[in-house]
Amino acid sequence: MSPASTADIGMTRNIGIMAHIDAGKTTTTERVLFYTGSSHYIGEVHDGAAHTDYDAEEQRRGITIYSVATTCFWQPGEHESGEPYTAETGANRINLIDTPGHVDFTVEVERSLRVLDGAVAVFDAVAGVEAQSETVWRQANRYSVPRICFVNKLDRVGATLNRTVEMMRERLGAHPIVVMIPVGLEGDFDAVIDLPTMELVTWPKAEDEQDKGRTCVRAKLDDSHPSWAEAVAAREAMIESLADVDDQTMEMFLGEGGSASLDLEAIRAGLRRVTLSLRGFPVLCGSALKNRGIQPLLDAVVHYLPSPLDMPPVEAELVDDIIGGKKAGELVTRKPDPEEPLLALAFKLIQDSHRGPVVLFRVYSGVLRVKDQILNVARDKKERINKLLLVRASKTEEIDEIGPGNIAAAVGLRFTTTGDTLILSKDKQRVVLPGMEIPEPVIFRSVEAKSAADQKDLEQALERIQKEDPSFSVYEDPDSAQTLMAGQGELHLEVIVNKLERDYRVKARVGKPQVAYRETIAGPTQSEFEYARETAGKRQYAKLTLELSARERGTGNRVENALPATDEYVKFPKEFLAAALEGMTDALSRGPILGYPVVDVQARLIAAAYLESESSAASFRAAATMGMNQAIEQAGARLLEPVMSVEVVGPEEFIGNVHSDLSTRRGRVLGLGPRGNAQVVQARVPLAEMVGYATSLRSVTQGRASYTMQFAAYAEVPSDLQQQIITKVRGY
Ligand code: GDP
Repeated sequence: MSPASTADIGMTRNIGIMAHIDAGKTTTTERVLFYTGSSHYIGEVHDGAAHTDYDAEEQRRGITIYSVATTCFWQPGEHESGEPYTAETGANRINLIDTPGHVDFTVEVERSLRVLDGAVAVFDAVAGVEAQSETVWRQANRYSVPRICFVNKLDRVGATLNRTVEMMRERLGAHPIVVMIPVGLEGDFDAVIDLPTMELVTWPKAEDEQDKGRTCVRAKLDDSHPSWAEAVAAREAMIESLADVDDQTMEMFLGEGGSASLDLEAIRAGLRRVTLSLRGFPVLCGSALKNRGIQPLLDAVVHYLPSPLDMPPVEAELVDDIIGGKKAGELVTRKPDPEEPLLALAFKLIQDSHRGPVVLFRVYSGVLRVKDQILNVARDKKERINKLLLVRASKTEEIDEIGPGNIAAAVGLRFTTTGDTLILSKDKQRVVLPGMEIPEPVIFRSVEAKSAADQKDLEQALERIQKEDPSFSVYEDPDSAQTLMAGQGELHLEVIVNKLERDYRVKARVGKPQVAYRETIAGPTQSEFEYARETAGKRQYAKLTLELSARERGTGNRVENALPATDEYVKFPKEFLAAALEGMTDALSRGPILGYPVVDVQARLIAAAYLESESSAASFRAAATMGMNQAIEQAGARLLEPVMSVEVVGPEEFIGNVHSDLSTRRGRVLGLGPRGNAQVVQARVPLAEMVGYATSLRSVTQGRASYTMQFAAYAEVPSDLQQQIITKVRGY
């Protein structure tokens, strides 16, 4: 494949399919892959029966690259059975990027929304706009993702197009523009009318069995068709609705020729303008299950959704500039142009047991060639790619290079992980794309294998998940020797537990979710500690004076040697000093209140004494640890709790309820403002108080509001609550 020319870039679409659970995202995706010739039979992706080069275990676990991103090719128009499209046939390239079903994990959401340029929102024609579709829609608003809508399941009893469209207006505050109407509904639903072209789109019935909807015929609609009058009215309504949000269309519409002056080209251009600027959302319809409406949906992806050329140039931060001229920290922009320096973002790492780590990335500018030496800027590591892969449903094609605006997978990168920026190592300007901020894990649960036989599998599975998901970590509790897994929230860990069972077939027993507290000190103190005892018949001696002070929240600990440079200390044995500093650091890993790590403390060793005959490194290490514990107690140990930044979005009438519910949770509201037709409440709430929030929010807003939360900072637990928490965690 040749490096992308500008024409190729304009023919690329990076899109996600977003939907509430059960609306038909999986079914729609399968059909897309089937009709574009990327997979050979329907159900291939879904049932994991594909012929791929993964090993059997990989298949069984269903961990697949194509579920993260896959490329297909499409040419709008009429479609005959069995014609596959390829890059060589000059077709448009559609990169499908998975969007997470759980909008709660901000990292995951960001990961996919960062790399896609547009989306298809799938709705269920019976259920309409459900609470969860509101959530998904608002998330896309927040990231300004242009969308087209697909009202699915028109074959179901009770399906209508209009009700869903009305609900988009009312519940989402969106401006839907219906560009396609169904012919028949429920059991009779069989065809659609494409309003811009006034074509009847049909799928021959007789061949349905083997054809599976692949043949898609377009015919000019004429006035003998029973739906003619309805289609004429709907087309008029489409133009009016477009004119409402697009001045150019409005001018033509109000001009001499009225709506007749708008030809196909003008209508498509208008629809594209409003879609890109999020002023309007073209609405299409069909039934993925009955193989109706998918080809016109793909046509609309090409017609209306943005190409990388429609996106503003990306901004990256300069780390250093070898030619000089610009300073570190300055922003530079990169356009989707093959002539620009390479700039790529690794957006997902997958541990593939067959190939090792596989990194999916998007190229923003320049061209990446397989032989190139690459630099992972943030990690300052040179990397080489063994293979570049174009992922096509369950198959992969080896390619030599990949151009701007495009997505591919790389095999052979050793240091790169989710969120890393890649450039060519020979490039003079080192730049990084804004990182995906990986928040601190704030909640943890113990995990153990249900049987000894599962132990090894559990360890391996946890290690792989940890590599793939940087917001998840696994460690061992030194006291109980229990394995603990830590993550972003209850739901995050729940999904991981499900993943262990479903994808890795490991049966695990997990403990209750627990808040990851921290400990710190209240104020400065100076404390002297003398260690003199006899162990195993040997005298031990060490004496230290420690000075502690509190550091600013979030700045971490600092342990330092502050022995004055007097004659006395010039001779002080180096190994005693090193052992003392080690012991001090050690003591900070477990606080005196509940054994949580101690943070934001400055600890200085200001005096020390030893006895030639009795002191050893071991006595200094022990003395320092005990001395620190004594000093921390003396300075006033305090418990810190994770406080979350919470955003609640919902209709105005429920905002009062949201407020009062948050205040019962020790929440502090920071701001309130409109977003679309909804209100957004920004608040800080201690994580410990967010238990059961999803249920409570549902009940105070009739299920109409949604929320996201992310770690913000650690803050001191109010003193009246401290004792309660201690009792709860200790269990006495
Ligand atoms: P997802 O959760 O959004 O991925 O939804 P799925 O694609 O798994 O579909 C959920 C259920 O709806 C499945 O039982 C599908 O067979 C069914 N379904 C999907 N599309 C249609 C459709 O167009 N018509 C009907 N009647 N059922 C559908």
